[in-house]
Amino acid sequence: MIKKQYLLSPGPTPIPESSLSSAVLPLIHHRTAEFSNMYASIIEGLQYVFQTQEDVYILTSSGSGAMQAAVVNILSAGEKVLTINCGKFGERWGKICRVFGLDVHEINLEWGAGYSKHELEAELSRDPNIQAVFSTLSETSTGTVYDIKGYAEVTSQHGALFVVDGISGIGATPCPMDDWNIDVLISGSQKAFMTPPGLAYIAFSRKAWKKVETSTLPRFYFDAREYRKSHAKKTTPWTPATSLLMQQKNALDIIRRIGLKNLFRHHHFLGEACRAGIKALELELFSSCPGDILTAVTVPKECDGKKLLSIMQDKYGIIVAGGQSQYQGLLFRIAHLGYTSAFDIITALSALEMTLRDLGYPFEPGSSVKAAEIILKEYYI
Ligand SMILES: *Cc1c(COP(=O)(O)O)cnc(C)c1O
Repeated sequence: MIKKQYLLSPGPTPIPESSLSSAVLPLIHHRTAEFSNMYASIIEGLQYVFQTQEDVYILTSSGSGAMQAAVVNILSAGEKVLTINCGKFGERWGKICRVFGLDVHEINLEWGAGYSKHELEAELSRDPNIQAVFSTLSETSTGTVYDIKGYAEVTSQHGALFVVDGISGIGATPCPMDDWNIDVLISGSQKAFMTPPGLAYIAFSRKAWKKVETSTLPRFYFDAREYRKSHAKKTTPWTPATSLLMQQKNALDIIRRIGLKNLFRHHHFLGEACRAGIKALELELFSSCPGDILTAVTVPKECDGKKLLSIMQDKYGIIVAGGQSQYQGLLFRIAHLGYTSAFDIITALSALEMTLRDLGYPFEPGSSVKAAEIILKEYYI
């Protein structure tokens, strides 16, 4: 049997063919005019996707490196911060801040639950000492997208800096840095940026820069001031992951050609179709406010979640993600971000149906594919 693999995980995500092959081009040196030209084009592309006039810096790390960079550049030991723990990644903000000796006030949400700007406003009004608020645009462990625009409003009224982990959301769902007054925005290459893992991106507002210059947390590799100096020469302070940058340039060219607005619309159709398919099977969405990045689904009580995942992956070759931490075996996540198309949704739902049949879960065969197909056809009109 020929078994083809379909990568439908929320990072790493599939890579466009032309980007894959950019990795094998002859290397260029990172202190040359040729590199600087490529660097300038990538920065322009990143500014386009971040929707910002600020400089965007390129770090050689996974997304968590940019999370650490955000923390160490804007704060000093003992300062008070508020972190929104909305799942596996929101929790990470608190962990990083504690490691660096900050006084962490953590909001603990039920996984998949919403959080309104009014709740944040009430929390902030009780504590004028909070220096920064750490949030997550798309919480990848639960498929939830949060009200970043609203949080930014109430945080800027309070006066604290507003930091957003946009690692899975940027490029797939709206989050304009400048329009929404975000002070620190980060992302990573292996999600909607259609590039392999290994690069992370960070931008600071003017207001954040004032803190960057006075903050005292220890920093070296991720010191934003070093990145700013090198940026003036259109290069990075340390040796960059040049091959990944060549791939990212190619993918950014594709992203710019399609256009952000069209990409948001694309992800919205894919999200709608996936959710309609899941509902047609009478399965439950895990998140109370699901975004268009990925769809997290509660494993029905008739089924063993670990078996469901292994049948999907090993028998049918569909690489979807399971639940993380305490939700292992209790949910699964179908990603539809980055270089994914309408037919990836059909493939995922069809394989899910075949898996559910293996597990004896009752449903009308073809019902999820039918529901998704009706929505996706609208997209092609
Ligand atoms: C992927 C991801 C991260 C970072 O994870 P890395 O493994 O360090 O790249 C952080 N936040 C969110 C929301 C993510 O999706």
